[in-house]
Amino acid sequence: MLETSALTKEFRGFRAVSEVDLAVEQGTVHALVGPNGAGKTTLFNLLTGFLTPTSGTIRFDGRDITGQQPEQIAHLGVARSFQITSLFDQMSVVDHVELALASPTGLGYRFWRSAGQMRRFRERAMALLGEVGLADRAGAYAGSLAYGQKRALELALALALDPKLLLLDEPTAGMGLEDVDRTIALVKKVSAGRTVVFVDHNMHVVGSLADTVTVLQSGKVLAQGTYDQVRTDERVVTAYLGQ
Ligand code: ADP
Repeated sequence: MLETSALTKEFRGFRAVSEVDLAVEQGTVHALVGPNGAGKTTLFNLLTGFLTPTSGTIRFDGRDITGQQPEQIAHLGVARSFQITSLFDQMSVVDHVELALASPTGLGYRFWRSAGQMRRFRERAMALLGEVGLADRAGAYAGSLAYGQKRALELALALALDPKLLLLDEPTAGMGLEDVDRTIALVKKVSAGRTVVFVDHNMHVVGSLADTVTVLQSGKVLAQGTYDQVRTDERVVTAYLGQ
């Protein structure tokens, strides 16, 4: 589904991502981990077209997407949920989802073009809110949601694009234990039948969700494999514990 080859991004000669080879199989959940500054965000930005690689290639679903614009990549089926909350406080929860459905990269744009079919947008939006556990908050202002609920709404907005590949940037960042466990269950649910790549610092989250893991350090791949393989990899233990 996703493959990078020797993917490299330099900022004024500094290699934030260096010769990264990544392969994500269709229908699997893949975690990107690594200490701060390892290059995880830069890699996400390369995969979504927000940054252009210095060298190397990115293939998605059988196509070379290297150097394509974010809108084009989104249109091909890559959706990203942002770490930074990007919601409108005084717009309702369900309106957010309808707007995402009606966006140029959303489902509505492709399938329902007539204004008379707004009811179907509403139904689809409500179904998505049900999927992320927010159906009972549909009419509330987004600004009134608790932090964990805002993150769930962001997930619904990404799902509104019906992506082939879902990228989640730190889905549990800033959450307490209860929200973390709720998010793990939610991501498990929405990842069924989808391909997911996520960044997270919480190893409990990584161990619970990931089929495969890539560990980055200083822009390079330090280790790759199943969670148990990388967890016991000496280089990973050394990198994390500084031994
Ligand atoms: P992570 O997400 O793993 O914490 P980042 O991808 O944010 O790591 O950063 C990797 C490295 O690249 C860091 O040293 C960071 O300072 C540097 N970096 C990221 N973006 C830029 C940029 N736009 N200009 C210069 N350096 C950058």
